[in-house]
Amino acid sequence: MNQIANPFLSIVIPVYNEEDNVQLLSQKVAEALVDYQYELILVDDGSTDETRIRAKQIKDDNLVFIELKRNYGQSLALAAGIDQAIGDYIITLDGDLQNDPLDIPMMINKLEEGDFDVVTGIRQKRKDNFVRTIPSKIANFMVRKATKMDIKDNGCALKVFTKETAKDLNLYGEMHRFINLLAYLNGARIAQVPVRHHARQFGQSKYGLGRTFKVINDLTLIIFMRKYMQRPIHLFGNAGLISLSLGGLIMAWLFIVKFFLGEDIGTRPLLIVGVVLLLAGVQLITMGIVVDLLMKTYYESQDMRPYRIRKITKGEKVVA
Ligand code: UDP
Ligand code: MG
Repeated sequence: MNQIANPFLSIVIPVYNEEDNVQLLSQKVAEALVDYQYELILVDDGSTDETRIRAKQIKDDNLVFIELKRNYGQSLALAAGIDQAIGDYIITLDGDLQNDPLDIPMMINKLEEGDFDVVTGIRQKRKDNFVRTIPSKIANFMVRKATKMDIKDNGCALKVFTKETAKDLNLYGEMHRFINLLAYLNGARIAQVPVRHHARQFGQSKYGLGRTFKVINDLTLIIFMRKYMQRPIHLFGNAGLISLSLGGLIMAWLFIVKFFLGEDIGTRPLLIVGVVLLLAGVQLITMGIVVDLLMKTYYESQDMRPYRIRKITKGEKVVA
């Protein structure tokens, strides 16, 4: 059991042009969490409408308002919120009221009961059109085939995490769609529960079909890079070593032929093979080092925080 007495909650919500949603959102969160102590972290992802002004009007001491310097996308906005979160449990959801904060207490109970690291929602009667639902079905299928993880609804933003699990995610690109997978690759135990889903009432979805390619690219990246880093295959390095050894053996044999048996080797095809193998071996080994280094730097660069914060306000106070 990972039950914490009176857990403090961090509700993290990225908002991009959600002027008609922010106030209602904070109200709904407050209503849903009357029995809890929490902070509501709204991350303004460079909105160009009145989101910021409306958010500033919210009278709520639980509110932490993070303004990013520009629009970084949902993943980095989420990352910014998670980085600032101080709660025992970190809860994510969308800012357009498609997720229902009323589901949160039930999800927390599930997390505590089952000793899980993540509780993720399965949207019941999803209220989106086929341009959204079909790519997401394909993505769910790909994830299921590529890994052994069986998650029904990877696209559901409503999730409850233990603090450590959320802070360990390293989100970027379009990876907010594969948070379950990232957590799973980090060894998280994930529970799935049915949650409500509402149609977007105000504002527009920020995504269309155009994002599908980005999503597929990021998905392949996650799956292959993570697998590679877990156990570097040293593909080029190994090929280089084999090539170098074979070339070395051939050259040793030719050395014996020339200096001990006194025969001429200048005309033998084997000489060319030996030289080529030796050179290829050296090339492949150096290339292997470069590839592995690249992978290592790539992997480590994920720890960078690529977003920039303009200001953080807690209640009425500017704190950063
Ligand atoms: N969002 C964001 N930055 C973006 C795009 C979206 O912070 O560049 C937020 C958006 O305000 C919302 C959530 O991410 O709170 C989900 O976005 P949306 O509702 O447009 O996605 P959909 O429900 O259509 O998948
Ligand atoms: Mg939405």
